[in-house]
Amino acid sequence: MMASLHCDAMVAGGGPSGSSLAIRLARSGRRVILIERCREPQHKVCGEFLSPETVPLLSELGIDAKELGARCIRRVRLIARDVFAEAELPEPALSLTRITLDEVLLRRAQCAGVSLMRGYNVESLEHASDGWYASAVASSRQEHLSVFADDAFLATGKHDLRAWQRTSAKAQSGLVAMKMYFTLSPRQQAELEENIELILYPGGYAGLQLVEGGCANLCTLTTREKLRSLGNQWHPLLEHMMHSSRHLALRLSGATPLESRPLALSSIPYGYTVEDVDMAPTPWRLGDQAAVIPSFCGGGVAIALHTARIAAGMYLAGSTQHDYHAEIRRQFEQRLYYSTLLSRLMIAVPGAVQAVRLWPALISSIFTATRVPGSSIHAVVN
Ligand SMILES: Cc1cc2nc3c(=O)[nH]c(=O)nc-3n(C[C@H](O)[C@H](O)[C@H](O)COP(=O)(O)OP(=O)(O)OC[C@H]3O[C@@H](n4cnc5c(N)ncnc54)[C@H](O)[C@@H]3O)c2cc1C
Repeated sequence: MMASLHCDAMVAGGGPSGSSLAIRLARSGRRVILIERCREPQHKVCGEFLSPETVPLLSELGIDAKELGARCIRRVRLIARDVFAEAELPEPALSLTRITLDEVLLRRAQCAGVSLMRGYNVESLEHASDGWYASAVASSRQEHLSVFADDAFLATGKHDLRAWQRTSAKAQSGLVAMKMYFTLSPRQQAELEENIELILYPGGYAGLQLVEGGCANLCTLTTREKLRSLGNQWHPLLEHMMHSSRHLALRLSGATPLESRPLALSSIPYGYTVEDVDMAPTPWRLGDQAAVIPSFCGGGVAIALHTARIAAGMYLAGSTQHDYHAEIRRQFEQRLYYSTLLSRLMIAVPGAVQAVRLWPALISSIFTATRVPGSSIHAVVN
């Protein structure tokens, strides 16, 4: 069966960037079609740390993360073998599962008048003289969707459409991410309360924090080589992490994993920022399609919401996608360069965390330096 639809703006991908852009455009009277490949709510590979700047960005969309059960995170702890450093965050952050956040955003988009096409995978996106043609296929492979739009927005996150691959020679892309939920023992849960713990181990690092409902999210990044040496298996990796970190072993003593195996993801191009090498037609890129910040910064969702805000503002003001991409590059290129350098250092020289013990204020400085640039939000959009 084939359905043909027409709209002002077609958005591929219903994560935080795609949904929030769709909400903003629909509220400004545009006819928007949002295509999301998952028919049902899904867990995602993510540390689920929401940096402070997500709060105002979500509240502009009518969402209060605390009402959804988000927990407060006030401190960050860095742990590498026997080195332990702790610092207050300059502003409190939150933790919220992506299954909750992404679903609320999708529901908001529908309430704002967006036509949400769920369960369709966008397979091709082509530019023609009169606009953009997208074709999408349902997971059953029996229903096809053909969309014609005046403008197209790419918000497919980690997944690239075939004709619109992201490339960046400078990216750090040899890492594999895995996420698992645990129920901790009451004592360990109490010790983790209001903290995010970043644990460095040979070959990778992991983030541990509580999310709503009281379970703990352990999200880790490991080099492909390290994972290969561990037979590409989760349990040997977990053993390796606990063997290298007595702190993590203690946290997980008496813990119960909530799934039989972790969610996994690979080939994440940390440090990528969008660049239009020529002025050829291109879709507007949002979220991870525009800029990918290393996971330890916990800033990806904020960037997703922020890029959607800037894109909506510039699109409605009549700017081109090239101007928008240049603006994103201007705001993020340097930030991503330094945070990717730090991410490489954390994996190559975990002992460098000693510097943080000697100089704890460094944690706050790094946290502040990797945040979404607040002042530029207003400069560009207002
Ligand atoms: C290991 C790891 C840990 C992280 N931890 C954090 C953290 O703690 N805090 C934080 O803020 N950020 C974190 N991030 C980053 C954050 O997850 C991303 O930056 C954020 O999800 C980007 O949002 P997005 O909307 O661009 O993409 P996504 O959230 O990836 O959403 C993309 C959507 O598009 C859909 N889609 C994909 N392809 C298609 C297609 N062809 N057709 C239709 N739909 C499609 C997908 O199903 C998905 O719903 C982490 C990332 C990783 C890998």
